Amino acid sequence: VSLRSAPDGFPAGGPSAAIIGGGPAGLMAAEAMAGRGVAVEVFDAMPSVGRKFLLAGKGGMNLTHSEPLERFIPRYGARAEPFATLLAEFGPDAVRRWADSLGIATFVGSSGRVFPSDFKAAPLLRAWLRRMKAMGVAFHVRHRWLGWDDYGALRFATPAGERAVEASSTVLALGGASWPQLGSDGAWVDLLATRGVVVAALRPANCGFDVEWSEIFRGRFAGQPLKTVALSFAGRTVRGEAMITETGIEGGAVYALSADLRDAIARDGNAVLSLDLKPDWSEARLAEALSRPRGAKSLSTFLEKTAQLKGVAVGLLREGEVPAEPARLAGLLKDIKLTLLRPRPMAEAISSAGGVPFEELDGSLMLTRLPGVFVAGEMLDWEAPTGGYLLTGCLATGHRAGLGAAAYATAPR
Ligand SMILES: Cc1cc2nc3c(=O)[nH]c(=O)nc-3n(C[C@H](O)[C@H](O)[C@H](O)COP(=O)(O)OP(=O)(O)OC[C@H]3O[C@@H](n4cnc5c(N)ncnc54)[C@H](O)[C@@H]3O)c2cc1C
Repeated sequence: VSLRSAPDGFPAGGPSAAIIGGGPAGLMAAEAMAGRGVAVEVFDAMPSVGRKFLLAGKGGMNLTHSEPLERFIPRYGARAEPFATLLAEFGPDAVRRWADSLGIATFVGSSGRVFPSDFKAAPLLRAWLRRMKAMGVAFHVRHRWLGWDDYGALRFATPAGERAVEASSTVLALGGASWPQLGSDGAWVDLLATRGVVVAALRPANCGFDVEWSEIFRGRFAGQPLKTVALSFAGRTVRGEAMITETGIEGGAVYALSADLRDAIARDGNAVLSLDLKPDWSEARLAEALSRPRGAKSLSTFLEKTAQLKGVAVGLLREGEVPAEPARLAGLLKDIKLTLLRPRPMAEAISSAGGVPFEELDGSLMLTRLPGVFVAGEMLDWEAPTGGYLLTGCLATGHRAGLGAAAYATAPR
């Protein structure tokens, strides 16, 4: 990379490649490029790289998933097609081998998800950065990318003032727009749009939703988990855990349905989610249990004794009218309807949907409108559920973009 403030004055030897964004996608691109012998400089707006990657470590660091590729690929929904080739090149097994090559063993949890053996992100990131530095990759933090100047150089705001950087090829890996305090704020959308790149609006993904709880329910149950429930929406059912919040509902099972729920709310104004509070029991078994005489028991005691339901589950039931007749009560416990009003704000989401569509890119993830500029990670227009698919998608696209940018930087021109 050459630093300059005017169009002249390039150093002899020419500029090297720039990676903007030091998240997992940008770092994987940097490593792929350095591996091809290209001089690489990584720029990031924050005082250190990989902040969201480290945060993922707080939740156990789910790196990838162990299911076979034919089940893995459809997790990318409408983008399964480009991901089929991306994952054939750098898929879940490659992710595990890569972690292993950094001295971090991985294991498959009972859910099939893959984690580092210590569930931590920091040792992995430390080893990765150490290896890249040994390969000659240079890091420039507190460099906020501002777009391009009139001469096509990259503009950065730094504590020492603005800098212009000439690069032989550029990988943009600026992330989505969730958790902006960690660096990814989506400000790049306007920077690319002004250069004629079509960008699909960023939307929250793997997010919670607002529900209008009664004051009593919110006061008593916000912060409490609903363990082993089954949630259904639009013909899909997901078993797992959900969490009641002050404003609504969140958690793994909700996230798994969140793309469909979000799109339905955008289309119809709200979405009705169905909750089965007793997914392991058939409705008939539940109805039979509930047909025992209640006597003088309160509803809570009766439900606890007959169906082992208590606390937040009974609270949820009480948010509506409770039928006395056993068959109807059983039906309701297996189909509590929750009206979701809106997704939680982007800043709270695990990831974001939208971004640069694959139609704007060639097969090496280079922007067709901006030759020499490649895009990777969450800033591309794809989404996937939690379960390791997000990091794997970021690493796979980072790898592809890095190889493309390396080829571009070294091609005779
Ligand atoms: C709480 C939480 C837990 C998660 N847990 C998991 C998990 O267990 N498994 C999983 O697969 N995924 C998980 N994810 C998702 C995963 O962390 C992200 O999908 C992934 O980090 C995205 O990688 P990225 O490289 O595309 O972007 P990011 O990691 O967001 O990195 C982008 C980088 O670009 C920099 N940047 C942005 N704009 C500029 C600019 N203008 N100039 C310079 N630099 C800029 C940012 O500072 C940042 O360092 C989790 C996310 C969250 C929020």
